[in-house]
Amino acid sequence: MALLVQNTQRNHETAPLAAVITRMSRACRDSARSESDVELVCVSKGHGSDAIFPILEAGQRVFGENRVQEAAEKWPALRDQFRAIELHLIGPLQTNKAADAVALFDVIQTVDRPKIAIAIAEAIGKIGTTPRLFIQVNTGREIQKAGVAPSDLGGLLEFCRADAKLNIEGLMCIPPCDELASPHFAYLARLAAEFDLRQLSMGMSEDFELAIQLGATYVRVGSAIFGKRGRNR
Ligand SMILES: *Cc1c(COP(=O)(O)O)cnc(C)c1O
Repeated sequence: MALLVQNTQRNHETAPLAAVITRMSRACRDSARSESDVELVCVSKGHGSDAIFPILEAGQRVFGENRVQEAAEKWPALRDQFRAIELHLIGPLQTNKAADAVALFDVIQTVDRPKIAIAIAEAIGKIGTTPRLFIQVNTGREIQKAGVAPSDLGGLLEFCRADAKLNIEGLMCIPPCDELASPHFAYLARLAAEFDLRQLSMGMSEDFELAIQLGATYVRVGSAIFGKRGRNR
């Protein structure tokens, strides 16, 4: 992280990125965690290549997108120009987009039902690349929200392993926006420990330091780096 901060502070476009990284470092120190255990997923949804370019030039390589189609339009060209980009899908996945997602993303964070696990497994068989996979958990049990219900997590994990032959590395959550995030982060960390999963994707612009204190290994930060997006994104 230190090198990234050095690269970013000289440039007004990337000063917010530097500030986020500095705050991540401090949160790691405050909770006696190693900086190398927490990765920043820079959420670039809704922003074009012109906005993403300076962030790449500063050295940031891990990015998150929530729509397969939008990512397919932006990232192949950027990948031609920058090496070692790691792209995370953080939005809901439909079965008819599974092949595109497997071809494009290094990490799919939003596995949440058997049907999508099967579609991903079939796409892996066809395409030959294997993204790393996290399960999204609906910790707030919100009816309209994606993610597996906490009570169904064990069953879905077993299905992924035994039936779909998929290796699940971690859990992801998006807490309800009108609730305190910390109980959701603590709950997700407890579920990950219970099922022996290493990776925890939690925390966004408003609460990433809290998430780091509660065990996040990936924080997903958009607006604190790029500024506010349009509505409904
Ligand atoms: C948009 C989004 C983020 C980033 O949110 P910010 O508040 O802009 O940091 C993180 N995670 C998911 C799943 C998102 O859709």
